[in-house]
This record gives sequence, C-alpha cells and structure tokens, in this order.
Amino acid sequence: MDDNKSESKVVGPSGRKIVYDKDGKPCRVCNTMLDFQFATGGTAGKVASSSKSPASEIPNGSYARIDPPDVEQLGRSSWTLLHSIAARYPEAPSTTQKQEIKQFMTIFSHIYPCNWCAKDFEEFIRNNAPRVDSREELGRWLCEAHNDVNKKLGKEEFNCNLWTKRWVDGWD
Ligand SMILES: Cc1cc2nc3c(=O)[nH]c(=O)nc-3n(C[C@H](O)[C@H](O)[C@H](O)COP(=O)(O)OP(=O)(O)OC[C@H]3O[C@@H](n4cnc5c(N)ncnc54)[C@H](O)[C@@H]3O)c2cc1C
Repeated sequence: MDDNKSESKVVGPSGRKIVYDKDGKPCRVCNTMLDFQFATGGTAGKVASSSKSPASEIPNGSYARIDPPDVEQLGRSSWTLLHSIAARYPEAPSTTQKQEIKQFMTIFSHIYPCNWCAKDFEEFIRNNAPRVDSREELGRWLCEAHNDVNKKLGKEEFNCNLWTKRWVDGWD
C-alpha cells in the first residue's frame, strides 16, 4: 500500500520529478531530502539530518545518528573529492598517472550512486575526454564538467579562471 502511495507521487515539493529505483522505492541519493521525504510519506518540511543538533543525535555517547546523503549532500561531497584530487594532481604527470586519472573518472562515472546523474556524467566524458596532461588542464576540465551540471540545474556557472583559488590556494 505504501509502495503504491510512493509510486503515485510523480513530482516533489522541489518541483522536480521523483526518481524511483527498480524496486519501486524512492531513491535517496537521486532525490533531494525534501522530495525523498515527501515520496516516502515522511515530513516534507523536516530539516535535513546533517543540520540537526548533534546533542540530540548521539546514542549512548557513540556515533551521531546521521542519515544517508541525499542528491545534494552526495554531490557537494563528491565535487569536493574530485576537485581536491585535481588540486593535488601533478603539474607534470607521468604516463601512468595520466592513465590512472582517466580510468578513475571513467569508473567514477559508472559507479556514481545517483544513477541519472551518472548517466549524464558518462555522456559528458564521452563527448569531452578528460584533459590530463597537467594539474591546470585537469582542474579546468573538471570545472567545465561541474559547470555542465550547474547549467543543467539552472545554477550560476563558476568562473574556471578561479578554480585554483577555490580548490588549491585559497582566496587570500
Ligand atoms: C558527477 C556529478 C554529477 C551530478 N549530477 C547531478 C544531476 O544530474 N542532478 C542533480 O540534481 N545533482 C547532480 N549532482 C549534484 C550537484 O552537482 C550539486 O553537488 C548539488 O546540487 C549541491 O549543489 P551546491 O549548490 O551545494 O554546490 P555544488 O555544485 O555541489 O558545488 C560545491 C562547491 O563547488 C564550487 N563550484 C561550483 N561550481 C564549480 C565549478 N564549475 N568548478 C569548480 N568549483 C565549483 C562552489 O564553491 C560550490 O559551493 C552531481 C554531482 C556530481 C559529483
């Protein structure tokens, strides 16, 4: 009954289409927290778990009871990892390092947990092969990949001339 109820919810409070897994359940990492909670019958207005007060979450003084990520939290964490990898990539990489980073990006695009995001990232890589001959190249390529998603989501594009300030050196 609950599943049927979930399946009947097509669009979430964010205005986006709700994404379901093959088993018919709403996909947590493919939807915003708000839409996921709406689709599962949770409280639509509930605050995302990452911003709850830690004191209320600590069971028996051990780990905080933080819920799995939604599409936005997963995205922010993933971009942080990807841009940080570019920030530490060698200025003059070896042949092996070039091969490894290309493989990494390709595999990443296959296994990214939000499957519809992954499909678009795979397509971006097919149409724009990773540029890996230097840190600067990789950083800019990744900035363009990120902007491709920003554009799709109607967000402002990031100025790729500033990528080293954001991910390598800081703004001062
Ligand atoms: C590979 C991938 C594909 C994704 N596809 C989708 C999708 O199809 N649909 C969806 O809803 N979400 C997708 N996401 C998540 C989405 O991109 C955002 O991470 C999420 O919406 C949260 O956005 P945000 O505004 O907090 O900042 P984010 O976009 O997560 O950015 C984090 C920070 O990076 C910096 N930044 C922003 N743009 C750039 C750039 N171009 N270059 C360098 N730094 C930048 C800014 O300082 C920003 O605060 C994807 C994430 C990844 C990693």
